[in-house]
Amino acid sequence: MVKHLFGKSLDVTKLKSNVLSNLTKHIEKIRFMMGELSSTSELITQKTCFICGSEHSRPFSEVYGFKYVECTDCSHVYTQTRYRDADIIQFYTNNATYSEVTYANVETCYYRRDSVAKPKFDFVIDHLPFKPSTFKWLDVGCGIGDLVSVANQNNWHCMGLELSSSSIAFSKEIFKQDLIQKTLEDFCKTSKERFEVVSFIGVLEHVTSPMDHLRMARKILEDNGLVLIQVPNAMSMATYTQDIFPETVFRHMSPVEHIMLFSEESLEKALRETGFESIAYWWHGLDSYEILNQMTMHSKKDVSSSRFNQAWMKVLSELQFVFDQNKLSDRILCLARRV
Ligand SMILES: [Zn+2]
Repeated sequence: MVKHLFGKSLDVTKLKSNVLSNLTKHIEKIRFMMGELSSTSELITQKTCFICGSEHSRPFSEVYGFKYVECTDCSHVYTQTRYRDADIIQFYTNNATYSEVTYANVETCYYRRDSVAKPKFDFVIDHLPFKPSTFKWLDVGCGIGDLVSVANQNNWHCMGLELSSSSIAFSKEIFKQDLIQKTLEDFCKTSKERFEVVSFIGVLEHVTSPMDHLRMARKILEDNGLVLIQVPNAMSMATYTQDIFPETVFRHMSPVEHIMLFSEESLEKALRETGFESIAYWWHGLDSYEILNQMTMHSKKDVSSSRFNQAWMKVLSELQFVFDQNKLSDRILCLARRV
């Protein structure tokens, strides 16, 4: 039986104080990043679904001129045009703006480690179907290494792969973690290591070969090993909000970063086809925060000092819980075992 967990209390003002304080500037940064990529790289057409290979799709949404389509066979959502893998890898390796905007922020990184990474670690430990013997964990695309740091603090031997040079430097300085600057593919070519857990937190939606990534993970996992996956949920309130306000998207359905969004169905299919079986799902997200941000950006009044803002912030977590319970959260966290 697959277990489903819903909801997570979260103080978003602590988590994203840098974002909340200046939404417009944040969007400008995202647009700048998109401009950088479009000036140096050429767009190519994605003809088939990343998960099931189907050529059949229907229009889903459009953001910044990128058309998202929904696979009619597995309900996976992806952009019809995208940049090449090599261009994307180069962008994440060299672009400090990306990691600064997203994760590497001294003001919020400790809160992020304790309130975002630690619960994910606990989720794995709570659902471990075996007693760990090697305690070896690989976190792929680990960002500033917050989860790596948590796992290592809890007596695991956790290695982190990360492309961004600035995130690696940040992790070394703040969390004292030595991350490895490699893609999973390059790591697998040279390493003989095996792991009991491999995690992909916010990674699969960025890569052009999510199925190969899962297959690679399976290869380096111990027989009963686990994969932990967090992906954006296509069928979420954040998606539906951004669909009606596409000109102010700065996260989630952000087409250059997230070339795909998963549905429960497409994630299940991806797992099954690559030799995994899901054990537990955790539905939680930032949808109520997304709605507030979009209203803030679209109002001509100063929403941040309004009674609306005050009241919304008061019930933010409760509203989110309702979305979560209906599987409308913008994130899907899934733990699956190797079969
Ligand atoms: Zn499909």
